[in-house]
Amino acid sequence: MKMKDFYSILGVSQDASKEDIKKAYKNLAKKYHPDANSGNKSAEDKFKEITEAYEVLSDDEKRSKYDRIKAGGFSGFGDGNFDFSGAGGAGANFEDILSSIFGGGRGPQPNGAGGFGDIFESFFDRGSSGFRGESERPSRGEDIEVKLELTLKQAVGGGNLKLKVNRRDICDYCSGEGGSGNAACQSCRGTGSISRSQGGFAISQPCPRCSGRGKIKTNTCANCSGQGFVSNIKQIKVNIPEGVADGQLIRIPGEGHAGVRNAPRGNILITVSIKPDDQFSRAGDDLYYDLVLKFTEAALGAVKMVPTIRGSAKVNIPAGAKSGTKLKLRGQGVKNHKTGATGDQIITVKIDVPSSLSDEAKKLLKELEKHI
Ligand SMILES: [Zn+2]
Ligand SMILES: [Zn+2]
Repeated sequence: MKMKDFYSILGVSQDASKEDIKKAYKNLAKKYHPDANSGNKSAEDKFKEITEAYEVLSDDEKRSKYDRIKAGGFSGFGDGNFDFSGAGGAGANFEDILSSIFGGGRGPQPNGAGGFGDIFESFFDRGSSGFRGESERPSRGEDIEVKLELTLKQAVGGGNLKLKVNRRDICDYCSGEGGSGNAACQSCRGTGSISRSQGGFAISQPCPRCSGRGKIKTNTCANCSGQGFVSNIKQIKVNIPEGVADGQLIRIPGEGHAGVRNAPRGNILITVSIKPDDQFSRAGDDLYYDLVLKFTEAALGAVKMVPTIRGSAKVNIPAGAKSGTKLKLRGQGVKNHKTGATGDQIITVKIDVPSSLSDEAKKLLKELEKHI
């Protein structure tokens, strides 16, 4: 659940004074006013947004309500337990709440239509999940995020790997119930939700005592201390795709933390990190390798065995190879998992000139010099 942050929309801090809010709004309004931005849709939207933010933050009562909601009054959204309609027990419904936020049901109407959904969506970011009406599902388990370090060879070759993760599982002893024996929760009178009501504004949230179950266990499970969950080390098999790139995300669905009340598990999200390699460097699908030759080898040509990421290959060095000459080993690079094509290994010739020579070698080279 993500609420629009009216403070950041106006660029002011949470404890900004009324004056500061007014000043911030004035500056922004000047900049984005439709009169100054004729036909500019994004400026128009921005203007509506800042106006909406100002309408709430400039009014002490609305602001304090907004602050309370923002501070966590809606934390119960995630498990689908939240319900405006039952809020307050005094018949306070959604419209009452909105009108109490916005005053007389007028409310900002940023989309022009002014419908109920519009106000609603303007108050909360669109696309958020877990809100009642949009999703009745209990909350899915959390994702487990793991960083996986691979050698270049592992990344190029792919394959299966075993990974240990610490994850939350449903307690076997109590099947996630937290214990046995049911008694109605005293705090919420068995309803599972409690409401807070202030000045006609009422919100309902899951009862913290019974976690929204409405019941409490008379015998607390000793295995999980009544949590319903335990922490286990789980070994997970990871299939590393051939040619995986540094920073690539591997997702293992449904193997994350257990969800609340039979909700599905979260996922495991593995971020691949590839260790630098001593021999090869990678650029896209190609691998680069420096081949050091004696200057005699370069002059005369040679046949060399060169390491590749998958083994080795014989390379013919033409006579007269210069330092910087590039040779290509086709198909010895990284397989591209999208196209299926394999890159190349690029060999760069480096010529090693000895820094010290024996007298004999010097004599021979001098003799040689006369011939070239
Ligand atoms: Zn248990
Ligand atoms: Zn309760």
